[in-house]
Amino acid sequence: MVQPRILILGAPGAGKGTQSAKIADRFDVDHVTTGDALRGNKEMDISHLDLEYDTPREYMDRGELVPDAVVNAIVDEALSQADGFVLDGYPRNLEQAEELEGMTDLDVVLYLDVSEDELVHRLTGRRMDPETGEIYHLEYNPPEDPAVEDRLVQRDDDTEETVKERLRVYRENTEPVIEHYEERGDLERIDGEQSPDEVWADVKETIEDAA
Ligand code: ADP
Ligand code: ADP
Repeated sequence: MVQPRILILGAPGAGKGTQSAKIADRFDVDHVTTGDALRGNKEMDISHLDLEYDTPREYMDRGELVPDAVVNAIVDEALSQADGFVLDGYPRNLEQAEELEGMTDLDVVLYLDVSEDELVHRLTGRRMDPETGEIYHLEYNPPEDPAVEDRLVQRDDDTEETVKERLRVYRENTEPVIEHYEERGDLERIDGEQSPDEVWADVKETIEDAA
């Protein structure tokens, strides 16, 4: 497996972004993340699709899923340009999982398992460095450099109210996706409540074993 095709699943806040950055670096694959792609195109005009709202932002600020037509196109385009990849944030419902099957085969499906109380704590304490895109946590992973600390920002949807809605949407739409891969016998379950380094050791070993 020269450049693996990796899917990383897990609830909001499970550590997908943190681990995907390490995977992309270590295995020399593209990090394909629908969350970042949508945040970079929040004001994109999707009124021609005649859906409930006219921009991704209106869905994201409410903690709802952006419509499949928008997200599928982003992933299709990104995967067609990548040899190997780590796909993060997609599929989030069974329709997207079916769509993905028509786009590519996967070498490994990872699932980061984290309890709901811990997810809320991780999401409300999450901060991003707008200059580097690095992910931090106020308590678990604060930056060492005070200049970085001063410029950290919180995502608009990491407020307690929106977090609760995102976790509800996750349980309703995305848990069936986890079950789907589990039933197929493809799911590599990883204890996501360990320290980031311990999670990484398990992630790395699982990918290497699949090679
Ligand atoms: P996701 O992409 O799944 O939403 P992130 O990688 O953004 O998750 O992580 C969510 C928050 O939790 C961030 O603030 C991150 O620094 C922190 N975090 C990630 N992994 C761990 C871990 N193993 N233990 C404690 N905190 C973590
Ligand atoms: P998290 O770090 O919580 O896992 P993401 O950054 O992956 O969150 O996603 C943020 C928001 O972007 C979601 O709440 C949703 O509105 C939208 N989004 C991301 N990926 C998808 C997807 N595959 N389908 C629909 N909406 C998505």
